[in-house]
Amino acid sequence: MSNAYRTNLIQKVLDKSEGNTWNEAVQEWMIDDCEEDDSLESSCICGKEELRYLFTIRNVRNGNTLFPIGSSCIKKFDRADLNEEVSIQEKLFKLFHAIEDGSFITLSSEFFSRKLLKYLYDEGVFQANEYNNYDPEIDYEFMLKMFNKRDKDSITRNQQRKINAIIMTSIRPYLAEQLINKIL
Ligand SMILES: [Zn+2]
Repeated sequence: MSNAYRTNLIQKVLDKSEGNTWNEAVQEWMIDDCEEDDSLESSCICGKEELRYLFTIRNVRNGNTLFPIGSSCIKKFDRADLNEEVSIQEKLFKLFHAIEDGSFITLSSEFFSRKLLKYLYDEGVFQANEYNNYDPEIDYEFMLKMFNKRDKDSITRNQQRKINAIIMTSIRPYLAEQLINKIL
């Protein structure tokens, strides 16, 4: 990141924060929303062009918002919780596109993470049905177990079939509903 971008970022954030130093100011913000701009026509508040993921961040002390801000600027806040959320949001978009493109989805770190699976579980994404004895946690535990397998070749054909079924019946409808209006 060039110095001009960094200076712009610091100025924009400080202007809308209560704290007077960068270290104070970065503690005041949370991630509010994320959209995807496929055409890469948007620019970050720092001035950097060709942004794909357009985050909105909100100041929890005064309600101010900043938009659009890119992930590399959010990383400058040096907050593990924000970085985690950025990673989850971006993976949700990537996973949705891969499903819509009909790609073969493996439980690799390209689309998934332990935190992402936990996020989906907490969001109530996994559906209760006759295959999991109406206990969605069983599907969550299964997906986690498959993700944790170091050797993905050891995933059997039946297991892959079950992965695909969970993706299509639980994860896809959720992503479609959540993201359809967030892709510009
Ligand atoms: Zn930026």
